[in-house]
Amino acid sequence: MVMMRTHTCGELRAKHAGKKATLCGWVETHRMQGKISFILLRDRYGVTQVFVNPEFTKKIGELRRESVVQIRGAVKKRPKEQVKKDMLTGEIEIGATEINIITKASPLPLEPNENIASSEEIRLRYRYLDLRRPKMVKNLTLRHKAIQFIREYLDKKGFLEIQTPILTKSTPEGARDYLVPSRIHRGKFYALPQSPQQYKQLLMVAGMDRYFQIAPCFRDEDARADRCPGEFYQLDLEMSFVKQEDILNITEDLFIKMIEKIFPDKKITQKPFPRITHAEAINKYKSDKPDLRKNKEDKDELAFCWIVDFPLFNKQTKEDFFHGAGNEWGPSHHMFTAPKEEDISLLDKKPGEAKSYQHDLVLNGFEVGGGSIRIHDPDIQAKIFDLIGFTEKQKKEFSHLIEAFTYGVPPHGGIAPGIDRLLMVIMGEESIREVIAFPKDKSARDPVMNAPSEVSSEQTDELGLKIKSR
Ligand code: ASP
Repeated sequence: MVMMRTHTCGELRAKHAGKKATLCGWVETHRMQGKISFILLRDRYGVTQVFVNPEFTKKIGELRRESVVQIRGAVKKRPKEQVKKDMLTGEIEIGATEINIITKASPLPLEPNENIASSEEIRLRYRYLDLRRPKMVKNLTLRHKAIQFIREYLDKKGFLEIQTPILTKSTPEGARDYLVPSRIHRGKFYALPQSPQQYKQLLMVAGMDRYFQIAPCFRDEDARADRCPGEFYQLDLEMSFVKQEDILNITEDLFIKMIEKIFPDKKITQKPFPRITHAEAINKYKSDKPDLRKNKEDKDELAFCWIVDFPLFNKQTKEDFFHGAGNEWGPSHHMFTAPKEEDISLLDKKPGEAKSYQHDLVLNGFEVGGGSIRIHDPDIQAKIFDLIGFTEKQKKEFSHLIEAFTYGVPPHGGIAPGIDRLLMVIMGEESIREVIAFPKDKSARDPVMNAPSEVSSEQTDELGLKIKSR
């Protein structure tokens, strides 16, 4: 046989009747019925029923579920009354003329079946089995389509997709960094980016004008239902020569069109998205991420809003501590967010009252993205560094950005919606892990690979590291 398969398990229809087909897939079930048997053969695309005659049934014995087989046979149309409406391929079945068992499956720790619940611990440990379930296939397919849509949309609008370094220096954006020790520069560390914030601003200095990236971001913070510890993906974008309104409009248009195309069952409550000031949100809804759904029982309702006019600074508190800043003020967003022009005079006297050009995108009560117009005046940037209590040493860490701004910086701004969280809310999932192929568990472990793990003393020696016992 030249080809491994001629069709997928979701492809055959009545029009293929009379043809020969070769399918490959996983044995979802092998049902013995006296001397004959039936295999339900599954792959990512669907399930096909295979009729196995007495001779083959005897030859192959009972197949273990999830074994991988190749089946060749004739496509037969089912009589009308036997059409299985709940199966894409329900009009036909295959009469096997050849069955090759490619790999046998051991007894399963997890049933890749929607109707049999497994604990999340087992699901994450055997994620590759869990991902065989149609629901997970659907979630990952929708995620792919949404990202594909974003790429095409932004490409048409003139954005360049540019990859920025993963081994870099930390961008202090409030969370703890993941550090990577350097072998060549002993005693020095890279940090994994909390976001590509400084790089995207440097790309604007470079004149790239419109940039985006589906960017992995790394933050050493605790898990929440809507936050995977460790890493997540953002749609990171930045534009030059724009006002805040331009950023809101393009983001809004992108998501409305994406939802209409990829999630046509969903209904957006209000278009254009309402724009609410931070003060109004706190007054009226007691929250800076209000849930504006009209009917909270409706799983297809999507209520977006923008929150604008944030205070530039928050008082540092134990619960909400901006790592990297001093003890008094932390930036509400990050230290590159521009204050409103009319509030610049407040910076000296009442910094807590100054408002900024931060914008948050909120969906059904979740913050799904944040961004801002950036500071492009080195003097104001220096002032902000002082106000958040940066030491001279910390300021030096940013000298490359401040220097870059002395060589011609365009006014610029952007946003970074979180892909995982946005899709979780759009798809109505309760846990962000349902839209991620291999998520970390709640204690930031990768349960499939069992990371983090100990490394050899050769490795730590090479890095000049000594692990203290706890
Ligand atoms: N880098 C910011 C963040 O991750 C987003 C932005 O300002 O564009 O929140």
